[in-house]
Amino acid sequence: MTDVPAPKPGPDEIEIEVAACGVCRTDLQLVEGDLPARRLPIVPGHQVVGRVVALGSGVRRWNIGDRVGVAWLAGACGVCAHCRAGDENLCESAEFTGWDRDGGYADTMVARADFALSIPDAFSDVEAAPLLCGGVIGYRSLKISGIRPGGRLGLYGFGASALLALQVAVHWGCEVYVATRSTAERMRALEFGAAWAGGYDDPPPVGLDAAVTFAPVGSVVVAALSAIVPGGTVAINAIHLDEIPAFDYDLLWRERGLRSVANFTRRDAAEFLGLAAEIPIRTVADVYPLDAANLALERLASGDVSGAAVLTMR
Ligand SMILES: [Zn+2]
Ligand SMILES: [Zn+2]
Repeated sequence: MTDVPAPKPGPDEIEIEVAACGVCRTDLQLVEGDLPARRLPIVPGHQVVGRVVALGSGVRRWNIGDRVGVAWLAGACGVCAHCRAGDENLCESAEFTGWDRDGGYADTMVARADFALSIPDAFSDVEAAPLLCGGVIGYRSLKISGIRPGGRLGLYGFGASALLALQVAVHWGCEVYVATRSTAERMRALEFGAAWAGGYDDPPPVGLDAAVTFAPVGSVVVAALSAIVPGGTVAINAIHLDEIPAFDYDLLWRERGLRSVANFTRRDAAEFLGLAAEIPIRTVADVYPLDAANLALERLASGDVSGAAVLTMR
């Protein structure tokens, strides 16, 4: 914890008084160096909800006092082939909150006005924060997995992000099969509408049309691949993953697919936040004051969090 000069918004930027900031596994991977730092020192935190307190020149979209969200994608170039195709999540010069730009483990922060998000009124600041990373990227993972309404979906690993994806999939009428090590998480999955919950080594009772892996463990990807039907896709929701063990080609044969999920687009965020308000999605937050950020990260590292950890600033 340290004092730094308050950031000032440049052209097309806004200054935000932070109300709440979610604690994500990616923050832990950055703090511990599993993801190499791009800039040091850096303020982590990329699930930020706060209010606009100053506008840089040229900002038209927001007014002082507006509630905004800031998530992982902090900016993209807007002109490269990926950006023009609507895949700004793949932009080579994309910048990320808490990695390239200072994030929300702070009283105030500055963000690009065009990358700040509107937060539906249905959610309080603390409820909205966990939606901004785990929720949005979980939603993109569902899209990448190709799961269709009514289909059979596997979720491997059941933390904060999977809990949100489960609620979207149940809303779409999917049958959801959850694999996780923890007995408490299995109970929670069933409580939130999963059709089945078991361990990573327990084969689900039916073939799955698609699966999303959330656990940052390569062997879980192979378990998911073993459970899907021909033509199904496993989407890997992880920015950092242990080595995937060698597996038999038979597991991939018959047009099964394996895809990673990288970041999200502003369109994913807008779609997901609208859907989250419509369902409405329930978030389970474990709240810490800002000065207990290290404790929250330690608990995440030891698997000792029951919901999504959220820091509150005052
Ligand atoms: Zn995150
Ligand atoms: Zn670009």
